[in-house]
Amino acid sequence: MTVRRLLCAALLACVCAIPAACAAPSATPNPSSQPAASSGNAVPRNQAQADLELLKRTYPDVVASVSPDGLTLRDGTRLPYDDGRSKTPEQALDDADLQDMLAQPYPLAPVTAEPGPGVHPGRVRVTAFFKAAYGHTPEEVKASLVSVRFLGATVQFNSRNGAAKALEAVNADLERLLAANPELRRFVLPVSGTFAWRQIAGTQRLSMHSFGAAIDLNAKVNTYWQWYKGNDPLGLRKAFPAEVVEVFERHGFVWGGKWAEFDIMHFEYRPEMIAKAGAPR
Ligand SMILES: [Zn+2]
Repeated sequence: MTVRRLLCAALLACVCAIPAACAAPSATPNPSSQPAASSGNAVPRNQAQADLELLKRTYPDVVASVSPDGLTLRDGTRLPYDDGRSKTPEQALDDADLQDMLAQPYPLAPVTAEPGPGVHPGRVRVTAFFKAAYGHTPEEVKASLVSVRFLGATVQFNSRNGAAKALEAVNADLERLLAANPELRRFVLPVSGTFAWRQIAGTQRLSMHSFGAAIDLNAKVNTYWQWYKGNDPLGLRKAFPAEVVEVFERHGFVWGGKWAEFDIMHFEYRPEMIAKAGAPR
């Protein structure tokens, strides 16, 4: 491999932490067969209320108040629960409301089958919500980053909303897991990135890396759907140790390996998705 190719590989390895992977642009296969992410029909009031209360419970420092049709955040932002528009999953990625964000259930069980097209629980995000949670600008996010020890390395993670504390808890459990199962280390180390503020090319979307609330593990081993040249994505998902995924999920992180547009290296702190899925294990 030439130096240039090595550099390219290194840059690609950062892609998830930096631009595309973690909030990827898209060319999701089979758009015509994708399920609607948002019907545009009225959502039952009890479901709306449950989702809004869930967000207040899992982001207490972010949500100032809940009303029947939305949230008021502590930075003054007013977010509707349901904008009433009908969207494909791809449209929901670009223009999500809170209902879209919580619409797809995140599965806590290990992967046993390919997710259907457009199934990517946790990949739909309301950017204004996460700006209020973690910082509206790179400078504001940087001011909230703290150093977290992670398996012998030091990474930067957002101290707001319990994200850094959650990663510390992941680290404590992973230290025990890897001490007992050293063969799993290659899936986890080295860390390939945490904070990187960047808009994804061609979109207005920011990944959770922009907010210092996501971590990529060994991008050389754990690939991303747009880079993958093989024909066994399910095998890829199953090859990543379910014990590692379970540790992250226990502490409020979702795994990109459970998305149709898989991102095996990627974990992001999304306590609302885990809380909605069921009690952390
Ligand atoms: Zn990532």
